[in-house]
Amino acid sequence: MTVPDEAARLNFIRDIVSADKAAGTNGGRVATRFPPEPNGYLHIGHAKSICLNFGVASDFAGACNLRFDDTNPETEETEYVDSIQADVRWLGFDWEDRLFYASDYFERLYACAVQLIQDGKAYVDSLTAEEIREHRGTLREPGRESPHRNRPVAVNVDLLARMRAGEFADGAQVLRAKIDMASPNMTMRDPILYRVRRAHHHRTGDAWCLYPMYDYAHPLSDAFERITHSLCTLEFEDHRPLYDWLIANVTGLPARPRQIEFARLNLTYTVMSKRKLMQLVTEGYVDGWDDPRIPTISGLRRRGFTPEAIRRFCEEIGVAKRENMIDIGLLEFFVRDHLNARAPRAMAVLRPLKVVIENYPEGQTDTFEVASHPDNPAMGTRHVPFGREIYIEREDFMEEPAKKFFRLAPGREVRLRGAYLITCREAVKDAAGNIVELRCTYDSATRGGDAPDGRKVKGTLHWVSAAHAVDADVRLYDRLFTHETPGTGDADFLTQINPGAREVLTGCKLEPSLASPEVGARFQFERLGYFCADQDSTAARPVFNRTVTLKDTWRG
Ligand code: ATP
Ligand code: MG
Repeated sequence: MTVPDEAARLNFIRDIVSADKAAGTNGGRVATRFPPEPNGYLHIGHAKSICLNFGVASDFAGACNLRFDDTNPETEETEYVDSIQADVRWLGFDWEDRLFYASDYFERLYACAVQLIQDGKAYVDSLTAEEIREHRGTLREPGRESPHRNRPVAVNVDLLARMRAGEFADGAQVLRAKIDMASPNMTMRDPILYRVRRAHHHRTGDAWCLYPMYDYAHPLSDAFERITHSLCTLEFEDHRPLYDWLIANVTGLPARPRQIEFARLNLTYTVMSKRKLMQLVTEGYVDGWDDPRIPTISGLRRRGFTPEAIRRFCEEIGVAKRENMIDIGLLEFFVRDHLNARAPRAMAVLRPLKVVIENYPEGQTDTFEVASHPDNPAMGTRHVPFGREIYIEREDFMEEPAKKFFRLAPGREVRLRGAYLITCREAVKDAAGNIVELRCTYDSATRGGDAPDGRKVKGTLHWVSAAHAVDADVRLYDRLFTHETPGTGDADFLTQINPGAREVLTGCKLEPSLASPEVGARFQFERLGYFCADQDSTAARPVFNRTVTLKDTWRG
């Protein structure tokens, strides 16, 4: 488990950029980009990359582009393009007029390929995929050169044009860089730059049947956009020599970007690979990309997490070169911290037990004016009605109270927060022996919740007036997996899903100020946690998601 300390908070990338700027590299200019592939929704790991790229640009008076690396037509969709833009904006970042697509560069990338061929640095290979794999060698053995490696330039140029024109079947020919089949780095053994694919592209339609590989398109797109620091995750470390090779061998590029790798974010009790998230969504383990149980940005938003908390989390975990695992409790800690300062308070009873106050006059109503936030008077007050019948939380009553249980029990007096002291006289049961109602009395001299004679009561309960209560559904969320690192070892991550990750409570009772919340509005329900109004709310019945409990589980 990694906990952020001073060392981890250091961001080695900022040091590199700072040194480059001081040395006048790139004329002191700083340009970064966030380059998602539009083949899924963004998750909290992407947030780390977004905060880093936009953060570095803003710290050094530079600019950060949003670029869709859309070179894989089969898996990409406009829905993802739209959701990604919405999520980056929601996180609080602005690419202004710098929205780009690798597909915008298809023509230019093609021209670069022709140039590489003309310079004797690329060739069309007619081996099958299987044969190419056989020729590649292993980590211990060098690869073998393809018999097509030394085709004349003119033949290569012609073949590439015919690949583009659709003369070859999918996979029949590929364009490869002519680098070194004996390189100890497998990536440098004549990597494939282009392949033939008859697939409809979300932006270029059917204009192309020849698509560039990511490893080819990415460095050149960076150069076209005059990126200075190309920040990516560690799995691209082995690809850096190819990145540099392309930047060095393609002529006429307007910039020489530098790739720097950092460790991806891993969080406990969840999964973050797009493939696994996709599986959870498409196979119905969760309700969609915005299910509050998964760590997508849309899921976290719907759950009630705030962009401020996510940004602070990303800042505090720092950026390092070593893989690590962050406690999901730390993310929740920042959410709780932010909401504690911002969320208005309200009372809600999730598992109601009716209380009849026998000596309170029928038909009478009291109204209490209560502060919306204990430390922030600027947030104003709300009016909370009180009557003869109220609801309290079932678990706030015990017929035979355990030791240290200071809440309601027969004969015991407790405080109803902000209202009165009440004493329990009787628990009414149904035929099966279940408690269905409590009969209590109140002390009318304790209005506001304090006894004039100074007598002490230990328990304070939240409550909702039965006559004024708003019915609601409340969804409680817990960790999606029972295992800290799902899917490790021989385990199938799907078998480690926590069946209690979502509990839906119906018939919850809310104070009337919560009757028609704006979707996304967040509250602290007193004594229970932070809750966010869900998009499924109707005029008749609000729906709330529990964002986090009040209890901090992060142990630093
Ligand atoms: P996945 O591995 O989940 O499929 P990806 O890397 O394929 O994700 P991209 O759309 O290519 O997803 O990612 C866009 C950018 O976000 C890349 O620069 C990638 O390195 C970065 N990124 C992805 N996952 C993480 C993570 N967990 N932590 C930090 N950065 C990440
Ligand atoms: Mg990727």
